[in-house]
Amino acid sequence: MRTRYAPSPTGHLHLGHVANAIYVWGLACIAGGRMLLRMEDHDRIRCRPEYEASILEDLAWLGFEPDEGLRPLIRQSDRDPIYRHALEQLRLTHHVYVCDCSRKRIGAEHYDGLCRTRGLAEGPGRGIRVQIDSGADLLLRDRDGNWTYHFAGVIDDIRQEITHIIRGEDLRSSTERQLRLRQMLGASAAPVYIHHPLILKQNGEKLSKSAGDTGVRELRRAGRTAPEVIGLAAAAVGLIESPRPIDADGVAELFGSFRIPS
Ligand SMILES: [Zn+2]
Repeated sequence: MRTRYAPSPTGHLHLGHVANAIYVWGLACIAGGRMLLRMEDHDRIRCRPEYEASILEDLAWLGFEPDEGLRPLIRQSDRDPIYRHALEQLRLTHHVYVCDCSRKRIGAEHYDGLCRTRGLAEGPGRGIRVQIDSGADLLLRDRDGNWTYHFAGVIDDIRQEITHIIRGEDLRSSTERQLRLRQMLGASAAPVYIHHPLILKQNGEKLSKSAGDTGVRELRRAGRTAPEVIGLAAAAVGLIESPRPIDADGVAELFGSFRIPS
């Protein structure tokens, strides 16, 4: 088993990230697997170096240490030639085209394929899509020139030979598209996807930004220890009934009866 922890440096860590780390490290541990860290900073506009530093510092403080990807740090922003090469390969077998549609024009999730036959040239303010049989052509590079989350992540998962993708329930709906993209990129085996519950706010929304009682920084400042913060996340996600201190080294104990699909 090879799995990965892939934070985006668009904010500080909150309990939702800690819950994901518990699943990733815990399941890797009971399976005797390898754990890779990957900084998903594909969005050059929203990602900031200070968030990257804060994430790494908080992870070290919590005690979650990866087997690979930390020294040197694997960052998507350093892998531009890899994504370019993958795009060129994809062009050979699929219809890759330029699209200048705004998010506003497209509206919700499904793109109508308007630019498929327009023959636009690449340029500023224009994105790149690939046609998918079922419709809903995937965006590979956005109009700001950033590789998209799906494209960069799928390529990295293939190249890093990730066998298990452990992530929150909110990403389940993208699984089919990602598997399709993998096939289109020529990957042979499909990884196992494990989706875990999310920590929800009282109004039922998922945590998006760290703040107040959910931010790791804030909890540290309030005097909480690392095992206490891990225990809070484990309880919030339903792994234990009520919070108790748990060491990062000990998160595997939470998955004693968990059967990892293969
Ligand atoms: Zn378009």
